[in-house]
This record gives sequence, structure tokens and C-alpha cells, in this order.
Amino acid sequence: MSFVSTIISKREGKALGAEAIADFVRGVVDGSLPDYQISALLMAILLRGMDAEETRALTVAMADSGRRYDWSSLDRPSSDKHSTGGVGDKVSLILAPLAAACGLAVPMLSGRGLGFTGGTLDKLESIPGFQTRLTEDRARAVLEAEGLCLIGQTGDLAPADRKLYALRDVTGTVESLPLIVSSILSKKLAAGPASLVIDLKVGRGAFMPDMEHARALGEALRDTAGALGLPCSVIFSAMDHPLGRSVGNGPEVEESLELLQGKGPADLRELTLILTGEMLHLSGLSSNSEAGYAMAQKALDDGSALERFLSLVRAQEGRLDASAHAWGLPRPNCVLELVADRDGFMPAPDARQVGIIALHLGAGRLKAEDPVDSTAGIRFCKAWAEPVKQGDVLAKIEAADESLAKKALLELGELLEPAALAPKLGPLILAHLDEKGYRSLV
Ligand code: URA
Repeated sequence: MSFVSTIISKREGKALGAEAIADFVRGVVDGSLPDYQISALLMAILLRGMDAEETRALTVAMADSGRRYDWSSLDRPSSDKHSTGGVGDKVSLILAPLAAACGLAVPMLSGRGLGFTGGTLDKLESIPGFQTRLTEDRARAVLEAEGLCLIGQTGDLAPADRKLYALRDVTGTVESLPLIVSSILSKKLAAGPASLVIDLKVGRGAFMPDMEHARALGEALRDTAGALGLPCSVIFSAMDHPLGRSVGNGPEVEESLELLQGKGPADLRELTLILTGEMLHLSGLSSNSEAGYAMAQKALDDGSALERFLSLVRAQEGRLDASAHAWGLPRPNCVLELVADRDGFMPAPDARQVGIIALHLGAGRLKAEDPVDSTAGIRFCKAWAEPVKQGDVLAKIEAADESLAKKALLELGELLEPAALAPKLGPLILAHLDEKGYRSLV
């Protein structure tokens, strides 16, 4: 069948067979299909949708478009967590060693940040010397010894997604459920964990603005993953305000270390424990999510997760010095303080706007090839809705570049004007979805 007839079939709302879908993905990766034909099919998929079977076939074909890791020979069950992306979301840095300390193998393949949300890889690379490019043999050795490895996604992992995502981005076809599901799950299937927990962010600073759309995506992810032999649970968490109190790569590593030492913000701790508990349950290491939560709580509080993280950092050639100020992480050239000009309450700032300020400060990138300033970021010094007095420091802005820091100070000042009334804060965990069904928690 010529490719134009595949486009026409989808344009007319017909379901595509697995073979036609596999041919499409092959043509994307080997370069035999021109971008205009690929884009035409993407638009037809966006407009006409795909049924569950087509979505599965597309996901498998994309996962098979590059190398697939297989960790089944390990002596522990493997599991991973995927976040749809948020501002201040450093959960992976804490969750991976925590889950490993509880007996899981966590082969975590992470990407870089793009736009106003950060990426785990950029955060890890703010640790001096930390190597995220490991050969498969080396990754396996680290995973066997430490129970986790934190490595960068390479070009040979689901290469079809790289090409398709780049085209979706410029053809108005990002917002298609089957295309999102196949994009997320193909990378996870190729990375090879035996189970998957998804942190599906909902709110102003998230890719999914409301629960209705988020639930549809969550169900499609769970169903597609489950049908492909990857047990999957979804936790829906709020992303209206930044998670934790720091935004930016180096500052987020520091906050993760604080949390691993039993300190740190309550929202970050709670979400990390819930996601880890879910991974332990899904992997059969705990009888239910609550028992998994309790296991994770113990490993966080007795220091074993911190120990695991420090050992992993050494194994991947990173240098953190417990006796040095801020663990010896690179320090910013410039630190500016935002001071309250009146009494009131700390506002709960819009996550998206904070993310954009941090991006322009140098913590993020607009194009995939842009460099990031690992010292750039914002540290909030008060909790949302906490009473503040005139003269209190509300936040610190850090960066290599003073002029960027001054600009960020002005922008953040507008977001953090002390409020006359305490802002109302919504719940952090909104819903839970697993093989038993959907449970709203609000
Ligand atoms: N994240 C992905 O990896 N792909 C999408 O299409 C959307 C979010």
C-alpha cells in the first residue's frame, strides 16, 4: 500500500492496521518518508484519533525503532517513575535512591529540560564530575551494585519519537492523545523497567491543565502500558505552584539532599513517599500502596536513602562533599534577595510564571542545544500562605549573570507581593488510578 493511501485511510477515520503503522514508523526512522507526508498523517491522527489497538501498535513500533534495554536478569524487580513535567519537580533525585534502598532496581533514563520545566539530567549534571553517559555494560554494573543508575536518554532510544516529536512541535499536532501516549510509553518500554508509576501533573504549570483531560490521558497510559505487559499506576498531582521551595538545577539538587537528610518541604516529601510506595506495591515488594509508603518513610528517615544516593553519585564519578558548604556544588556569582515591603501572607505563585522566570535566568533552555547555568535558580524562603513581616526575605535569586538576576528580581517581585489574606491552597494529590480503577482524592 502506498503511504498516501495510509494518510487517506486515517483522514477518512478508518483504523490503521499494525503493519501500516510499523511501515510508517520505519519510514520515519530510515528517512524514506518526507516530512510533509509524516506531518499529514500526524494531523489526520490528531483529527481522527486512534483506537486502543492502533495506539498499542504505534507504541510498540516506536519502542522497537531503536535499542531496548532488558533488566530481567537482575535479582530484584525493576521499576521506574515518569513525570509529565512540572516546576521544581526534583522527585526523581530522591525517589530513585529511596526505591533502591527499599529493594527495587531503578534503571532511570532521564531527559533534559525544555521550556519552563526542568529535566533530571540537567539537575544531575550540576553535580561536579557526574557522568550521565554510561555504556550499557557500565549502567548494568552500577544498577547491580547500587540498585539504581541515573543515565541520559541516548539518540538510539525510541528514535522515532525524537523525529515525530520535532514535527509535532511545528505542525500543531502535540495535543493528540494517542501521539502523547505512544511518545511517553515508547521511551519507557525501551528503557525496560518491569513496572511504571506515572506522576501526571495537573494545573497551571502542567502540560494537562484540568482533571478531565488528565484523566483521559491517565487511563490511556494505564491501558496501553498494561496491554503491553507493563503494569502501570497513575498518581494525579497538583502543579499550580512550584513543588518544594527551590527551582533551578543546582538549587534543586541541594533541596533533594536536604530532603534525603530528613529535612526539606512537606509537599515534596509527601509526593515522593506516595510515588515510591506505589512503585513498591506495583512491584510486589509491599502488600499495598500504604505499606509501600511506610517502607519508603522508614528508608528516608533512617538515612539509608541518603547513603544510597551518595554511593550512586560516587559510582557515577560525581563529587559531593558532605563537609563543604552546600555539598561543594558550584556557587552562583550573584545572589539577590527579594524583601517583603509590607506585612501580609506569602502568595502561592503560579508555577508556570515561576518556571518562565527561572528559564530566562539561565536555569532552562528554549532550544534543545542551549546551555544551562547550573547555579541559576530561585529559592523561596517562606512557605505558601505563611505570614510575613515587612523586611522578611521572601526569596533568593541566584545566577551566574547579575543582569539576568536583576531582571528576575523585578519579575518575581510582582508575583510575590505579600497578600492581605492567606491564599487558599488546594490538595497536592488529586486522584489515583490503577488496575482497579479511578479514585478521586479531593
Ligand atoms: N511528553 C512526551 O514525552 N511526549 C509527549 O508527546 C508529551 C509529553
